[in-house]
This record gives sequence, structure tokens and C-alpha cells, in this order.
Amino acid sequence: MKKHNFSAGPCVLPQEVLQKASEAVLNFNQLDLSLIEISHRSKDFVEVMENARALVKKLMNLNDDYEVLFLQGGASLQFIMVPFNLSKAGGNPAYLDTGVWASKAIKESQKLTQTDVVASGKDNGYSSIPKEFNIKDDADYFHCTSNNTIYGTQIKNFPDVHVPLVCDMSSDIFSRELDFSQFDLIYAGAQKNMGPAGATLVVVKKEILGKTGRDIPSYLDYMVHINKESMFNTPPVFPVYVSLLTLQWLESLGGVTAIEKLNNAKAELLYGEIDRNPLFKGFAAVEDRSYMNATFFLNDESLKDKFDGLWKSAGVNGLGGYRTVGGYRASMYNALTIESVQVVVDCMQQLEKES
Ligand SMILES: *Cc1c(COP(=O)(O)O)cnc(C)c1O
Repeated sequence: MKKHNFSAGPCVLPQEVLQKASEAVLNFNQLDLSLIEISHRSKDFVEVMENARALVKKLMNLNDDYEVLFLQGGASLQFIMVPFNLSKAGGNPAYLDTGVWASKAIKESQKLTQTDVVASGKDNGYSSIPKEFNIKDDADYFHCTSNNTIYGTQIKNFPDVHVPLVCDMSSDIFSRELDFSQFDLIYAGAQKNMGPAGATLVVVKKEILGKTGRDIPSYLDYMVHINKESMFNTPPVFPVYVSLLTLQWLESLGGVTAIEKLNNAKAELLYGEIDRNPLFKGFAAVEDRSYMNATFFLNDESLKDKFDGLWKSAGVNGLGGYRTVGGYRASMYNALTIESVQVVVDCMQQLEKES
């Protein structure tokens, strides 16, 4: 039987997507060729890329002011591509420090700019999202991380800013309804809610580009990729195809509106048990709790071996917390079913009964 996969990333994908992807590896579109052995310039693959780019815009309800790219280098390459493309020499972009990934984005930005960290959650161990901060009028842009994968916090309301709004949505992309047009640039590594590692989604409002006067290395220049319709060099064909399959699966369920309802039900089930069960406590501030990654602890660490034994023998994978945070982390991405969450809740209740 398949495991209940709570892995933080790479992570669970829909079973039907894995099935179709494996068929395409053997024989794609009845070509008697594998998806991964045909030219990326062939009609069959160009169609995959075009469909994937169009479906992203459709699911986000975005108009033609936006361009969609599938790049390589992960979200981590975006940490430096963003300042290259959006910050003038000597510029001062504003960043919100909400955790490990936000800090890494800041570190890269500092290599190129006078980065202004407007607020940081570091002092409270990143258990909540700072909400009081000022962004300078002349900031090049404001960068935030919608969901903090490691700490299990999530921005619920994005600030109304007067500069371009840039967001790392790697771990909650397509998980909830948002006004995506409030953002000027969104990026996300595919491997947390969209597909396999190897592709990075970038959605950018064209009008913010081309204003820095910088000589940008070709691969790092969004305009180069836009002008080549996301085919500047060989794109990550397999991750793009699997991302397309996942997005088609999402569309068939009813898009982000429908998945948000399912994600809310899963998160409420688990947080409900964390709050009810006297053996456990949550890590993140209640108002900032992530609906993708729930972080929690045992009040009594001596029960650890017993609890770990329970969930492992129930077929649960990937429930251990991040090494610097400890405890547990349940990553409940789009493809995880509520039945899997119920299995963890049952283990928590069993632990309570037996101790
Ligand atoms: C996982 C993650 C990253 C890093 O993604 P890579 O594709 O491995 O570079 C960045 N930001 C967030 C929020 C993440 O969860």
C-alpha cells in the first residue's frame, strides 16, 4: 500500500499524475518515443510548454500583462535573479525576514544591493509573521515569502505596498485563492505543490522589467526568457510536463477555489487535534499558522519513541520536523488526502489513550 506522504519537499503528487508521467516516459503521445528523448523544439513538446504557461495564467486568473516562465536553478536561483532584474545599481529593495528561505533570499540580495530588512521574526524563533513595518518610498521592490515551509507560518494578508510586490510562493503556490494580480513577480520551485524538482515557475508582470540599466547575464535576464517563450535553452522537459499534468489535475478538481476548501479541511482537522490533545502543542502563532506545513511538538519528549513507532507503523512518511526546529512537521500539500491526515490524528489519539 502507498505511504501517507507528509514529506516537505519533494513531496506527494497525485497518483494519476504519476501514472500518466510514467506512461509518457515510455511512449509519449503515441509517438513511440519517450517524452525525455524527443527535441524540446518538436511540436509535441512546444505544445506542452505552451499549455503549461497558459494554464498557470488561467488558474491564477491573470491577464496578458503577465508572462509565465519555467526556468531551472530552483527557487534559490530566483534569490539572485530578482535583484538583478528589479534593482538599480545602488538600489535598496525591501525584504521581510520570516524564516530560513527568506534569509537566504536576503543574503543573495545583499550581494548586489543595499538590502533593507524591514522586519524580522528571528527574535521569536520565526514562530510568527511580523506585521508592523515601513517600506521606504524609493525601495526598488518588496520581497516576502508567502509560506515558511520550515517554521509552518503563512502570510494571510499581503501588505498593500506602493512598490513592486515580489513573492516566493514555493510552498503554497496554487493552494488557496488569492488576488494574484496584487503581485508583480511570483516564483516557486515546482517540487512542493506542482511537480518534480528541476523546474521553477516565474510569473512576472512585464512592465516592471527592463528598468535597472544593469547588464544582466543572459540566463539571469527574465526578458531573454520571455522573448524566447521560455525556450532560451533546453527547458527541464520532464518537470514541465509533470507540472502540466498536476495543473490539469487541479483544474479538473475546480482550481484553487476547490483545492482551498480541501486544504482548509485538512488543516482544521490536524490543528484541531493539536489544540485538543493535551500531549501536543503547536509551534506557530495561531493567527499565522500555515495550512500547508503544520509544525508541532510533544509536551513530553519521553513519548517520542512511542509516537514515532505509532505513525511509522501506520504507513506515515516524512513527519519529522526540520533539523533546527525539531518536533514534527506535517506537510499537507494539494495532493495529500484528508484520509492521510486522519491517520496521523488517529495516531495522536492512540498515543493519548495509551499513555
Ligand atoms: C524549498 C523552498 C525554497 C528552495 O527551493 P529550491 O527550488 O530548492 O531552490 C525556497 N523557498 C521556499 C519557501 C521553499 O519552501
